[in-house]
Amino acid sequence: MMPPLSVYLHIPFCERKCIYCDFYSIENLALREDFVDLLLAEIDLKLRSNPALEGRALQTIFFGGGTPSLLTPQELERIIGKLQQYFSIAADCEFTLECNPGTVSLDKLKAYRSLGVNRLSFGVQSFDARELEFLGRIHDAKQAKEAIALARQAGFDNVSLDLIFALPDQEESVLRRTLDEAIKLETDHISAYNLIVERGTPLYRLVQLGKVIELDADRAAALFDIVQDRLSEAGFAQYEISNYAKSSEKRAKHNLVYWDGHKDYVSFGPSAHEFIDGVRAWNISSLEEYSKMIRAGKLPIINSERLTPEDRRTEILYLQLRSTGIRLKDFESDFSEDLLKNQDVQWFMEDGMLVSEEGLLKLTQKGYRFCDGIVTRLLREREHTPTEIVLPLLQRQYGAAA
Ligand code: SF4
Repeated sequence: MMPPLSVYLHIPFCERKCIYCDFYSIENLALREDFVDLLLAEIDLKLRSNPALEGRALQTIFFGGGTPSLLTPQELERIIGKLQQYFSIAADCEFTLECNPGTVSLDKLKAYRSLGVNRLSFGVQSFDARELEFLGRIHDAKQAKEAIALARQAGFDNVSLDLIFALPDQEESVLRRTLDEAIKLETDHISAYNLIVERGTPLYRLVQLGKVIELDADRAAALFDIVQDRLSEAGFAQYEISNYAKSSEKRAKHNLVYWDGHKDYVSFGPSAHEFIDGVRAWNISSLEEYSKMIRAGKLPIINSERLTPEDRRTEILYLQLRSTGIRLKDFESDFSEDLLKNQDVQWFMEDGMLVSEEGLLKLTQKGYRFCDGIVTRLLREREHTPTEIVLPLLQRQYGAAA
């Protein structure tokens, strides 16, 4: 039987760029219609170049961006129709669409639902007017609340929202108010990302010019503790550094595929990354170049790499540890290494940062706070640093879009 597959589609448009965002997107919405044609052509090209993908059952579909909720239902229907031409969609497929609260209406959400979308992820980021303005969001707190109410009205029973914390000068009281507002909305899932100042963003330039001062690491860690504690009190279980779910059914299955490190996912659209049969590949991050390549009948892949065993070990450590835990038996059989005998692992366990439970080596609540340091320590011992393969993947997977 053919193994299941996940699919990621990158919709590279935003009404306005947020100052912190380094995901690929452009503000020229007039190019959207042409883009849908190109995306369909890319799907045809990829399936022609890799016919073994055809017929596989999609276990998750994820429309990310950019702002996928800028797609009209008709455009979305065309894309889904093209996917159905090549793939079957599993009966329990998780079908997520990222939404910007400033771009939805009840009619649009109902239409998305009728097309099979069954999970919405809203980029809310904050409920504080000053923070929303600083971040450059196109919506206010009221619109965010209304959008989530509309999602429920449209029949969605799996709704997530994204928050960003550790903004420059963020007061604990402001973060607590945002968390309280988020909790009141009774979503099924919350992602809470620590603001990262990414190179090349307007925020990065403001920091370089000294106009914005980044929050120091200790204060950011204290805010992370508040996020963990408050969401846990409200019944959200943390299952990844930045992700919390009301129940295990409401965990983001698509992201769990990424974090598993073994499962295949195919992707389409500018800047999208995929992993198929041990090969990581990524598309060009320019709609213009993407368009030229597709029109010339070429796949818009800018680079690809077959992972070495050492790269695989790095990925598994990064990805599994930061989410549901490293499967110890699999790790031993893949890399001939019993992690429980590793001295650093033993030290982190004694210090209450790692725990071995049900065959998994997992981060504790305290360990999540030090995840990057723990992984770096485990990699340093082998004198192997993360390659360019892992870092863009992590960026793509752990930021907050839309
Ligand atoms: S955060 Fe979302 S809405 Fe803002 S620029 Fe990035 S992708 Fe667009």
